[in-house]
Amino acid sequence: MKASNGKIHRALPGPSIIPDKVLQAMQRPAPNIYGGELENITHSILEEIALLAGTKGRVVLYISNGHGAWEAAISNLFRKGDKVLIISTGVFGSNWGKMADKMGLNTIYLEYGMEDILDFDDLAKIISNDKNHEIKGILTVQSDTASSILTDINKVRHVLDEHNHPALFLVDSIACFGCDEMHMDKWGIDVLLTASQKGLMAPPGLSYLIINDKAEEEAKKITEKSAYWDWGPRLEPSKFYEIYCGTAPTHLLFAQKAALDIIREEGKDNIINRHLILAKTVWKAIEIWQQEGPLNFNVKHEKNRSKAVTTVVAKKFDLKPLKDWVETNTGVELGISLGFDGEDYFNGNSAFRIAHMGHLNPHMILGVISSIEMGLIATNVPFKLGGVENAMTYLAEAINS
Ligand SMILES: *Cc1c(COP(=O)(O)O)cnc(C)c1O
Repeated sequence: MKASNGKIHRALPGPSIIPDKVLQAMQRPAPNIYGGELENITHSILEEIALLAGTKGRVVLYISNGHGAWEAAISNLFRKGDKVLIISTGVFGSNWGKMADKMGLNTIYLEYGMEDILDFDDLAKIISNDKNHEIKGILTVQSDTASSILTDINKVRHVLDEHNHPALFLVDSIACFGCDEMHMDKWGIDVLLTASQKGLMAPPGLSYLIINDKAEEEAKKITEKSAYWDWGPRLEPSKFYEIYCGTAPTHLLFAQKAALDIIREEGKDNIINRHLILAKTVWKAIEIWQQEGPLNFNVKHEKNRSKAVTTVVAKKFDLKPLKDWVETNTGVELGISLGFDGEDYFNGNSAFRIAHMGHLNPHMILGVISSIEMGLIATNVPFKLGGVENAMTYLAEAINS
């Protein structure tokens, strides 16, 4: 019996679900790329991104995915041989580090694998031992999309301040921008990275570097850099097209503007609260399921979990039949595991991810967890029944309060 016809729900942590209004905004002919409407749209996008970041700093927009933003940040701020510290609590920090390696930087790592959060004592030790301030930059990820670990960015800043360390503080918030809290200026972030296809609800292809005065000044000292990534001319264009170093990504801008209109209408505070209660709804289900059988949170403590994505693990247990059953029979696609390799993790098949980022409301998130609970029954995974009920009870109360 096939029951899955209807709308497919992709619970993948990027690209996230694109609202109909955003899709429709792209159904139009190509505009003039030399100014006019496109210029207004560009400036309104840059303003909205700065507001969401919580900064008085400026925003540089690139035609690229998140990897492009990684390279742009490095290219503008560092010289070959500069020492940078990479903090990795999953997959994305180390991948950013590998890029820095390729670009000739001298990288050192605080590497925690897939399960462990940053140990702030380790960080304090490295920072306090760096008496000559050889470390020029700290590269950090706010929410690692693979492990779903959330790093306390404010606390990293405190460690740098306690030791009066002048390193540039770079934060990749690509996974959780517009989902987890972000206060760029208050948290002393010098460069914040994000991209269009996750909390920002638009197709992939736009990335953003949000930069403060310190970053702008440091970048001016770097004389040799990639002409395309150089943010100088993009910030001070003599002609409009120089903002893009060429043709503007016209339809992606229409889409991003429409998405930011939705975001502005809802309001930043409500968006952060909605993500919190929808994330907790998922956690309330898992809290019950994990009481029997192999399922578990990858991140044990709630305060270390991202509000954009949750990684579920079942060590040494094959969850592929569950994922396949859910996809074939319910119209829900779950995120594949990333970084959970080897025997312990059944070569990647003992984990999956539930995205709860962006365009999402209670019936969508309840549909996802109910489909998983059905799948657990149908594929004979041992678990404790009652997760969905627990989630519904929580959510009803959270909405009313
Ligand atoms: C998605 C993501 C990236 C990479 O973005 P791409 O668009 O795939 O290049 C980088 N960092 C984090 C934390 C992400 O979630």
